[in-house]
Amino acid sequence: MKLIDNWKQAWKLKSVQVGALSAFFYALILFSEQFLSVWEVVPQELKNKIPENVAEWVGMFVGVAMVLARLKKQPELHTGVNQFVAITAGHSNTDPGAVNGNAKEADLVTNFRNAVAFYLRESGLQVKTDGTGTKNDPLSAAVKLIKGSSVAVEFHMNAAASKQANGIETIALPKDKKLAQDLSKAVADAFGSRLRGDNGWIDQSKSARGRLAFVSNGGLIVELGFISNPIELKKFNDKYWIAAKALAKVLIDYEKALK
Ligand SMILES: [Zn+2]
Repeated sequence: MKLIDNWKQAWKLKSVQVGALSAFFYALILFSEQFLSVWEVVPQELKNKIPENVAEWVGMFVGVAMVLARLKKQPELHTGVNQFVAITAGHSNTDPGAVNGNAKEADLVTNFRNAVAFYLRESGLQVKTDGTGTKNDPLSAAVKLIKGSSVAVEFHMNAAASKQANGIETIALPKDKKLAQDLSKAVADAFGSRLRGDNGWIDQSKSARGRLAFVSNGGLIVELGFISNPIELKKFNDKYWIAAKALAKVLIDYEKALK
């Protein structure tokens, strides 16, 4: 109660009113859309306290705000459900995934994600990622990006007890078999690696990892070789930009075919 009484006292001070009004107009310009919803919940009692000449100005600004808000909404009118490609890196900044010496799976696939996103954006596609730079958001954030995307791809690296284990594979639902095979082939050709599974496709139900949330939600997981295999790790480090470019080309062609 005391707080409210003090606030009422403060409101009567001219300086506070002027301060509040300028903050009000500043906010209006910055957040025209948000302002409208705020203005709607301002109690009529408070609105009545605004001097009439000021109220007229406010009325005018509300009109301007409505126009601004509508203009801001405009691009969304052209945004269908299938307007972006989601490209995400496996694991996260706190979960390194598989590790071989200094090499961490999460870091390598984050670099790969950035390279693929670069080529996709260069071709004019809209791209959403689970972070930029070294940022690698967790799986929950990556899964959220699948909804509304025309295609969603996440990158991982395999690991096995045997240093000889090798090859490229893409885990996907049967509906994405062809795309999965094309993605795997692009990467395998760039690295000079072999394809695993059915010509590079691993059916989610046949994956050793069981049901993967990213794939169950409609995404594809590309395993970019074995981090546990020193030869494949070196190939990755030497040529990942080339592989990323080849993989991006597959996605660009896939998007073109959708139109
Ligand atoms: Zn992984």
